[in-house]
Amino acid sequence: MNKATGIRCHCGQRILRKDVLHYGFYVKLFGPSYVYLKFRCSRCKKIGEEFVEKDKWNENMLHDRTTEMTDSEKKKFNGMGKIDISEMVEFHHELENLTSLEDLKSDT
Ligand SMILES: [Zn+2]
Repeated sequence: MNKATGIRCHCGQRILRKDVLHYGFYVKLFGPSYVYLKFRCSRCKKIGEEFVEKDKWNENMLHDRTTEMTDSEKKKFNGMGKIDISEMVEFHHELENLTSLEDLKSDT
């Protein structure tokens, strides 16, 4: 999958900013940092998660040229960009339970 073209649900639906529930950074001591996205698909309503290497991350990946964000949506998204310690701890805990991300945690 070419991540640069955008975030997609398993069903193929494009994920846009309005679908994002949680957004944060996963910073590792060694290796690349990741942008973490939790989203609800607007088509199948399923919750999905996505990690994107920070270097490859581009906010335009969540941007649909046909729907411009309103100011309130923009404000909401900017608010989600802030991540506090409790969220970070919760996130690490979550990560430990995701076996499919085993290669992500490895530095090899
Ligand atoms: Zn979907």
